[in-house]
Amino acid sequence: MERKLVISTGNQNKVKEIKDILSDLNIEVVSKKDLGLASIQVEEDGDTLEENSLKKARELSKRIDYMVVADDSGLFVDQLDGKPGVHSSRYGGEEGNDSKNNRKLLDELKGIPLEKREAKFKSIIALITEDKKEIIVYGECKGRIGFEEKGKNGFGYDPLFIPYGYEKTFGEIGEEEKNKISHRSNALKNLKLELARLLDGDSR
Ligand code: IMP
Repeated sequence: MERKLVISTGNQNKVKEIKDILSDLNIEVVSKKDLGLASIQVEEDGDTLEENSLKKARELSKRIDYMVVADDSGLFVDQLDGKPGVHSSRYGGEEGNDSKNNRKLLDELKGIPLEKREAKFKSIIALITEDKKEIIVYGECKGRIGFEEKGKNGFGYDPLFIPYGYEKTFGEIGEEEKNKISHRSNALKNLKLELARLLDGDSR
């Protein structure tokens, strides 16, 4: 029987990205909304991305016996000792306000030259299996923080983040190119390996 994997996110772009990358595995991928569980919300108050992603996955896994995944991500700037980090979505003082977050980041890095503006996006995905085994996978994308916002694509810190190997920000390069190298896609590739291993166990 085909195993079901439930994604704990309300973000339709993430749902699509996860479905796409896992499409060639013999797993039915559904969102918590598809199961009528959209109202399950968890406060992301952990000190690390691992804590937050596990908290979200556990909350969902308590209620269903399918496999579940939940993710958390953030931007870690070397010069700022890893800030905004786990607080990326509210760095500027207001939850989810991208322009305040970007402004604060530019302020904090004022006068810092390009070579000292190194940063990485990190993505953690927590997978909990039907028998409640917890597996954590990781992905990252390294780059630098630019001096002004550039580009209209994406969200969050995308207009400021220049990935290594590119002269443009994530906001300029567009979703398709970003999805080839992003922290989230790297974590998803690792998730796929773990899932393939679990499915392989089924067939033996
Ligand atoms: P979440 O894991 O999607 O909730 O991301 C938390 C926060 O990290 C977002 O609100 C953004 O500020 C930042 N972030 C995570 N991933 C990205 C990305 O791919 N581009 C830009 N910002 C991101």
